[in-house]
Amino acid sequence: MEHRSQIFWDVDTQVDFLSPWGKLRVPGAEAIVPTLRRLTQWAGEHRVLVVASADAHREDDPEFEQWPPHCVAGTGGQLKIPETSLPRQLVLPNRRVEIPADLSAWQQVVLEKQELDVFTNPNAAPLVEQLGRPDVVLYGVVTELCVMRAARHLVRLGCRVTLVEDAMAALNAAEARECLDELIGLGARLARADDVAGS
Ligand SMILES: [Zn+2]
Repeated sequence: MEHRSQIFWDVDTQVDFLSPWGKLRVPGAEAIVPTLRRLTQWAGEHRVLVVASADAHREDDPEFEQWPPHCVAGTGGQLKIPETSLPRQLVLPNRRVEIPADLSAWQQVVLEKQELDVFTNPNAAPLVEQLGRPDVVLYGVVTELCVMRAARHLVRLGCRVTLVEDAMAALNAAEARECLDELIGLGARLARADDVAGS
């Protein structure tokens, strides 16, 4: 087993959610992009692995009964925004694949998903185990949907989770607040980007 004391975990920072012309733009989310860039650069410079979830939908995914189509695989909207992309990227599709035993060559591991919960990707839990249940610095969109679900699983798996308040965006502020309170009750803590990428 590989022991990493800390990883960053980036939730769905993709064009369709974050860009002004995205198909399911999170209102106000452009404002966190400079902070997302800073966190990503800091991780790259300090050799901190960034695990990133990414929607990779088919055109007829069940999610589109509830949400406008977004992040369809093969479209520009599905890409991670350049500000959160690192050059040495390993993509783990949503089917069980062999995770390389040595991940030190990679700066970013992308977990593809077709649902809100990244742990529907069968590689997610094994990856966390392989990394030695590290401390996780978590951020991205949407707070009360995909960030919340990732955080719950990570806490359950035994990771110490730090949520970066100024690097998240919500669709519903009241629901997001409730989610954060629940996560704090489970042992997660809140921080700001300055606290986790300050030096
Ligand atoms: Zn989706």
